[in-house]
Parts: sequence; structure tokens; C-alpha cells
Amino acid sequence: MERTAEAHTGARAMQEIFERIAAADTIIITRHSRPDGDAVGSTLGLSAILRASFPEKRVFLDNDDRAEYLAFLGDEGPRPAPEDYAAATLIVLDTGTPDRVANARVFDAKCVIKIDHHICREHYGDLAWVEEERSSVCEMIAEFYRAFADRLTLTRYAAECLYTGMVTDSGRFRFRGTNGDTLRLAAMLLDAGVDFERIFSQLGGEDLETVRFEGYLASKIRTTESGAAYLRISKRLRLKHGISLEDACNTVSLMEHIKGSLIWIAFIENDDGSVRVRLRSRFVEVQQLASRFGGGGHACASGATVNSRAEEAQLLAEADKLLMDYKEKAFAKSGFCPE
Ligand code: AMP
Repeated sequence: MERTAEAHTGARAMQEIFERIAAADTIIITRHSRPDGDAVGSTLGLSAILRASFPEKRVFLDNDDRAEYLAFLGDEGPRPAPEDYAAATLIVLDTGTPDRVANARVFDAKCVIKIDHHICREHYGDLAWVEEERSSVCEMIAEFYRAFADRLTLTRYAAECLYTGMVTDSGRFRFRGTNGDTLRLAAMLLDAGVDFERIFSQLGGEDLETVRFEGYLASKIRTTESGAAYLRISKRLRLKHGISLEDACNTVSLMEHIKGSLIWIAFIENDDGSVRVRLRSRFVEVQQLASRFGGGGHACASGATVNSRAEEAQLLAEADKLLMDYKEKAFAKSGFCPE
């Protein structure tokens, strides 16, 4: 049974969450499925802070999937038993809607807390702390630590997990949402001993086959009339080149720097034939486009799943129109359109 929470921002939400955590004996932390650096970093980082701060509490992570490329951050430890849920306080991180939670038992918990930064109109759980303008949930957890630093312990490991999520979700501090506070919180984590060289070498590493595949794929990038760039990776192509689904999904970044292509989209066929759509943009907002296809996310980084070539074509046509309208308006206003 989903409970509908009222979302709060800032100090009031943090205070309520701290009180619920302080009162709980068992805490379970979960995140969204198909996790990225922010989902993994925030769950591991928060659990490390809570374990170090409250050794008497039982703190679990419980998620049904994992991301190989983030395995360097360590594993999630023993999972809770089903009967642990009834008395537990459960914290869902980085997950806008309940259908995306990587844990089917969420609403078995006594108390459900949502902490998130996705654009979302309806919240779930008993308490929601949502700040859409934050560059990452890891930044919010760092803020939470800073607010209660006299009662919480930030280990070096926790700082490394949070830093990983901050750099991945903010595109190395380049995306919208990055501000002075993001960098001050990142500085706080660096002061706790983060080894960023190790983190970046782990995040940047690619197999030679993947690099070669990307070279091949670069020649397959197409653009719509208005300049939206797109790539399609069928399951057959992926298997032929021996590329994992995860690596195939990461190729969306190949289109990131194409001048004039302010929107870029990767269509990646999943094993079951459905197609994961990864939408990225600069200046133009794509979140509403994604939500028209049942997806969502952030203003300039969203995702969706489609089930036919017709739907793919429809999504591309809408992206093309969105970019066309944006460029026309920009020219009409200033005779110039950013690239
Ligand atoms: P992705 O391209 O999968 O990395 O997604 C970009 C952003 O959109 C991430 O913050 C995701 O959590 C979010 N997102 C992806 N798919 C969906 C979806 N179907 N519904 C809501 N948000 C999504």
C-alpha cells in the first residue's frame, strides 16, 4: 500500500528525518533499479554514516539489482529478512516514483522516507524530502551530515561513496544544479580524505572492445532535421560486438559534445525487446518529453522505455519539434542560439 507523503525541503525535512532515524532500531535503505552513481553512492554513503554514528542500530541495504561498473564502491552487505520490515524505518534514495524502487517490499516497512531530487508531482511514503534543484541525492546526504555533524560520523569510505555520486550525477560538476553549495559540500568530502584519483580511474575505465565499439558507433550517429542527435543499439548489434547492456547504455555520452545537437538520445534494446531511451540535453528541457512516454527524470537528463519502432519514431519526431521550437525562439529573441 503506497502512502502519500507531503514533500518538505530543507531544515524542517532534515530535522524530521533525523528524529525518525534516531528513534529507529532497524533502518533499511533502498534506491532505484538500474542504479547509477548517485543511487549507489547515496545508499552506501548514508548506510556508512548511520553505521558509524549508531553502532547499536541495525542498518541494511536491500536492492534487487546492482551496477557492475560501480562494484568498486563495495557490496551492500547482508540483506534484511522479510520479518525485519514490519518494525523498520525504510529510506528510499534517488527514486521519484514507487514503480522505480529496486525493492518490492518497500511498503511493508513501518515508516517510509523518500529523499530525492527528481522532478515529481506526487510523492510516496510517510515523509518526503525532495529538492529538485539539487545536483544529486549524494549532495543532499552530504548536506544532511553537515546539518547534524555534531551527532553523525562521516567516515572516509562514506565520503568516497557520496563524492562518487556527486561527480557522476553532476557530470563532474558541469550540469545544471551545480552551485556554490555543491562545491562546498564536495570540499567537505575531500577534507574527509576522498581519493579522487582512484575514483576517476575506476569510473573512466573501459575495455578495449568497448572503445572500439564506440568508434564504430560514432559513425552511426544520426541527426534529425533540427539537429537532435540519436543512436540506436539493437540487441543483435550489442551481442555481435560482445558488449554488455550496461556498456551499451553508457554510449549516450558519445553524442554529448556535438555542436548544435542540443538534444541527444540513445535507444538501447533490452534483452526482452523493450527499448530503453536515454535523453540528454543542454539549454532545452527534455523531462516533459520523457514523461509523455511514461518516463521522467531531470530537466536535462531523463529516461523512458518504449515498446515499438513506431513509439521510437514518435519520440524522435517530438524531440525534433522541441529543438526546432527552441532554436526558433532563441533566434527570434536574440538572433543567436547557443550550441
Ligand atoms: P537514465 O538515462 O536512465 O540515466 O535516466 C536519466 C534520469 O532520469 C535519471 O535520474 C533517472 O533516474 C531518471 N529516469 C530514467 N528513467 C525514468 C523513468 N522511466 N521514470 C522516471 N525517471 C526516470
